[in-house]
Amino acid sequence: MVHPVYANLPTTIFEAMSGLARETGAINLGQGFPDEPGPEAVRRKAAEETVHGYNQYPPMRGLPGLRQAVAAHYARFQGLDLDWETEVTVTSGATEALAAAFLSLISPGDEVVLFQPLYDAYTPMVRRAGGVPRLARLEPPHWRITREMLEAAFTPNTRMVVLNNPVNPAAVIFPDEDLALLAAFCVAHDVLAVCDEVWEQIAFDGRVFKPLMAFPGMRERTVKIGSAGKMFALTGWKVGFLCAAPALTRGLAGAHQFLTFTTPPNLQAAVAWGLENCPDWFAAMPGELQRSRDRLAAGLAREGFKVLPAAGTYFLNVDLAASGVSEADRDFCLRAVREHGVAAIPVSAFYEQDAPTHIIRLCFAKRDETLDAGIERLAAARAAVIGA
Ligand code: PMP
Ligand code: GLN
Repeated sequence: MVHPVYANLPTTIFEAMSGLARETGAINLGQGFPDEPGPEAVRRKAAEETVHGYNQYPPMRGLPGLRQAVAAHYARFQGLDLDWETEVTVTSGATEALAAAFLSLISPGDEVVLFQPLYDAYTPMVRRAGGVPRLARLEPPHWRITREMLEAAFTPNTRMVVLNNPVNPAAVIFPDEDLALLAAFCVAHDVLAVCDEVWEQIAFDGRVFKPLMAFPGMRERTVKIGSAGKMFALTGWKVGFLCAAPALTRGLAGAHQFLTFTTPPNLQAAVAWGLENCPDWFAAMPGELQRSRDRLAAGLAREGFKVLPAAGTYFLNVDLAASGVSEADRDFCLRAVREHGVAAIPVSAFYEQDAPTHIIRLCFAKRDETLDAGIERLAAARAAVIGA
């Protein structure tokens, strides 16, 4: 029989909405992936490696060249001092990295603090690993971490906190003050932090992303997770990174070796090459996405939508209620994709308890014409229910 965690688990909202978009031919502003195919030089490198490179099992912890490039990348962008040999493991996407972290660091009955809204993969994986989720809740529009919420969530049984920063779907980047507060709680309660920082390279309006690992007392108790898919706008590539102190890395690698064991070496080699040779990509990407964010935000505002701020990620949220739409987020999204040819994600899918039902998430990593058509179709979906 199926394990209870999976027995009634619905298909993830991203696949469900993309499936409907494929079926109906709708514009897909739901699942987070770019219209553009990703940097050509990196894709050419992958092609060359596929044809002329080594395509048998690479080393279990990843190609040394990629692990060195990851350590160098995080030294350059985030001031971290990772030792590539003992502290960096390559995984098949951040998703596998999360699974390896939960399986290797959670024992049955351990409490795990998570923040709603949360990425939908977290709680099923935490529960399957034997963990007991303790949910704190971030509130719009600022989505701040507060002392009161941490005091309520942490107990003597807390083993781990899971932090996603920048946050999908809230599109917020936590201020230093909140990270310092969380770090102080982790240290005081002797708790590990699993940091899903896959959106780290996408920060707007001059913001500088800071990893939780860099805060006092966190270097030895943090597992930092990154994703080449997000760094290079190649979301299908599934190359992730686990960065942690040697004692944690031994456990993480132990889990990784029996989850996927390795990750395709052609893709690893291309990612290593990209990290070393594409400084222009990292310099230009946030600005281009910021321009797309602004185009989508301005277009939606013109059509009467109330748009929430987006400090990073590919995502912008719309407050339906404040836009004059009283329909629940899921109903609006189903109607929008079926009747108006545009897919979005209901933000209630990122909650386990007391979900708000008036916010939808849109992906703006798209060409101008896709955004413009999406705006028009969303406006039609709104007009149909407010009678405008
Ligand atoms: N965590 C978050 C917060 C994400 O948004 C995503 C994917 N968009 C992932 C993890 C998964 O990353 P990957 O595709 O590298 O597995
Ligand atoms: N993380 C992507 C998003 O938020 C989706 C990834 C997936 O489909 N699992 O849209």
